[in-house]
This record gives sequence, structure tokens and C-alpha cells, in this order.
Amino acid sequence: MLFEYQNDVSLRPFNTFGMDVNCTELCEITNEDIARKIILSSKFKNKSFVILGGGSNVLFTDNFEGLVLLNKIEGLYILFENDKEVVVEVGAGVGWHDFVLYCIAQNWGGVENLSLIPGSVGASPMQNIGAYGVEVKDVFYELQALHLETGEIHYFKNEDCKFGYRESVFKNELKDKYLITRVTFKLTKNNHVLNTSYGAIEDELNNMGVEVSTIKDVSNAVIKIRQSKLPNPAEIGNAGSFFKNPVIGTEHLNHLISLYPNIVYYPVNEEEVKVAAGWLIDSLGWKGKTFGNYGVHKNQALVLVNYGGAKGKDILNLSEQIIQEVMGKYNIRLEREVNIY
Ligand code: FAD
Ligand code: NAP
Repeated sequence: MLFEYQNDVSLRPFNTFGMDVNCTELCEITNEDIARKIILSSKFKNKSFVILGGGSNVLFTDNFEGLVLLNKIEGLYILFENDKEVVVEVGAGVGWHDFVLYCIAQNWGGVENLSLIPGSVGASPMQNIGAYGVEVKDVFYELQALHLETGEIHYFKNEDCKFGYRESVFKNELKDKYLITRVTFKLTKNNHVLNTSYGAIEDELNNMGVEVSTIKDVSNAVIKIRQSKLPNPAEIGNAGSFFKNPVIGTEHLNHLISLYPNIVYYPVNEEEVKVAAGWLIDSLGWKGKTFGNYGVHKNQALVLVNYGGAKGKDILNLSEQIIQEVMGKYNIRLEREVNIY
């Protein structure tokens, strides 16, 4: 069992915002035994820690005084398959998009709409990642997680995870209690249920000249749309959508429609609607605003960006100003989706 603690490590390669901060210690976790050894050691007790996968949903506002556990648990095992479906267990450190591409290559359906989302498989249940009308909960079967006090492995089924819109139990009552080590998914092997009605997928498939689409076509369409709209973190630091789309009551919405007829919203249920946070922010003139080396992305008002050398505190302050302005005008409190450290 080989592992080592590295001291005073730069976190710049480990966060897609590209924040140039250090942590006191960092350790790579390549299997459950290593994880258990670390968390049961006296070094770990009463120490600040953060688990990182791909660092694509975090903002560091300062150096991190504590231990970073970098999840590198690999592996992919078929647990069950028949003619119709396959149940596959994936190491938490596997790259999410690598997993999606593997599924497409095997003709396993269910994750094609979630193509090109950065980060790790292990983080996918954390906020129930979602895009183009599909969420990880739709293909999730089970996960294994190491309890950070006892070192025991606990199993969580779909209902145990309390998945919601960009939410799970691990962001709420079980925050910082578990290290997710493996995630199991149930995917289709034929009769795939394609979801092409969301956003620009249909148009992109038409542009591609596709008449009868496959999961590979849908994945390619999603990749094309994302590449045309979203900043590539390898070029411009960002963590995707900084804010969640807020859910408000229909009475509140009706009042807003009377004042702002162009407001963009989608029904959630009979009493609630989801308002496009991007529209709210754009309507206040924030899209494309730049403040030296940071700002709001020019194509997507939900994405805050680091053009190079920005400080996490500046990005956090910018997000606070946006929250205040949206609150002032629309009486809607935006919530941050990105995890702040
Ligand atoms: P990290 O950023 O490393 O961690 C995120 C949080 O999860 C942290 O609090 C961390 O402590 C915790 N965590 C990570 N791994 C574990 C683990 N194994 N056990 C316990 N806790 C853990 N998200 C979407 O939902 N949909 C999108 O379409 C989408 N598009 C994006 C596009 C871009 C360009 C970018 C930069 C981000 C996007 N995101 C999107 C956000 C992000 O990619 C996802 O939330 C992703 O799942 C984060 O994975 P990660 O491994 O990078 O997590
Ligand atoms: P888009 O297609 O321009 O749509 C704008 C917003 O409207 C999205 O936030 C989406 O909500 C909502 N929307 C669009 N069509 C909808 C429908 N038919 N029913 C319900 N809601 C609908 O969005 P985009 O910015 O290009 O992103 C495309 C997809 O990728 C979205 O699903 C988005 O969530 C996801 N994405 C997520 C992140 C992240 O970091 N979380 C970053 C980039 C893209 P939803 O967000 O609820 O889907």
C-alpha cells in the first residue's frame, strides 16, 4: 500500500478555475485501503480537509490550510448484464467524460446527454449532475462511500441519496461525512430512450444531417453545442454554472411576468417554475462584463471566468454583487452551485 503526503502543494492544476493557491498537504487516494489508513490516522483527526476529483465545481478563495484528498480510484467492472441492460461499477476517480465515451463505444445508453461534463465519476452524485434534460439519478444504481469517522464502507441506493435539482444528501446532511469511492450505473443495451427535445439538440442533429439518431449522434450533438457555447477550462478558468436556476412559486412568477414579459421559465410542477438564472443575470447587463482578469463569460451569463491570475475572493465578491442585484430587482435569491473553500 503505497502513498505519500506531499507538503505545500500548488492546487492550480487541480481546480478548473485555475486559482493559484496552495494547500498544506495533499495525498492521492488510489484505493479504499489507503483512504481508510489516512482517515483513521491521528494526522487526519480535527484537521481541515477537502476531497477533490477534477476540481471543476470548486472555488478556492485563499490557500487551503489543511489536507487535500485527491480521488484517483480507477476501475470499471460489469456486475450484471443481460440482453437489455448492463450494471457497471466505476471507480470514483475515473473521468466522467471518459466514462461517457466508453459507454457510447459499448453502445450502452443513458449518459449520452451528459457528454463533456468535466470532473470525476465520484463527484457525479454530489450535485446529481445534469444537462439537456437528463440527471445522473436517471442512470444511478448504487454508490459505495467510505465513512470518514469509522472507515467503514456504506452503500447508498438511489432513494438514500435524496437526489434533487443539483442536490443530494452529500451536499446537505451528510456533507463532509463520506468519501465516495465507487458508483454503479444501470444502462440500456438496446431500445435506448433518446432525449433530444431539450435545448438545441434537435437543431444540431438536423445540422449534422442525422435523420434517425443513435446515442453516439446525441453525444456528438451535445459535444458540439457545448464546445460552441462554453469556455474550455484549459483556456479560460471557470467552474461551469456558478449559480443554480432558482425555483419560485407561480404567484411570484405571474407578478414578474406582468413587469417583465420576456422572463424565461420552465414549469416544475403545478405550483412552481424554474427561472433561467442566465436570463436574470443577462437582463441586468452582466453578460460579458470584465473586471481586469475576471468577469462574466460573453456567451453564458451563468459562468464566471478567470482570464488568468484572478483571485478567488474577487470572483466570490462578483457573485455576491450579482446575487444582490438579482434580489433587488426580481426578489429572487440566487444560490451558488459552485462549492466555496
Ligand atoms: P470537484 O470539483 O473536485 O468537487 C466538487 C465537490 O464534490 C467538492 O465539494 C468535493 O469535495 C466533492 N467531492 C468530489 N469528489 C468526491 C468524492 N469522491 N467523495 C466525496 N466528495 C467528493 N455540472 C453539471 O451538473 N452539469 C453540467 O452540464 C456541467 N457542466 C460544466 C461545464 C464546465 C465547463 C465546467 C467547468 C463545469 C461543469 N459542471 C457541470 C460542474 C462540474 O463539472 C460537475 O459538478 C462535476 O461533477 C464536478 O466533478 P469534479 O470531480 O470536478 O468535482
Ligand atoms: P440552454 O440550453 O441555453 O438553456 C438555458 C436554461 O434553460 C438551462 O439552464 C436549462 O435548465 C433551461 N432549459 C432549457 N430547455 C429546457 C427545457 N426544455 N426544460 C426545462 N428547462 C430547460 O442552457 P445551456 O447553458 O446551453 O446549458 C445546456 C445544458 O447544460 C443545461 O441543461 C445546463 O444545465 C447544462 N450545463 C450545466 C452547467 C453546470 O455547471 N451546471 C454548465 C454548462 C451547462 P437546466 O440547467 O435545469 O437544464
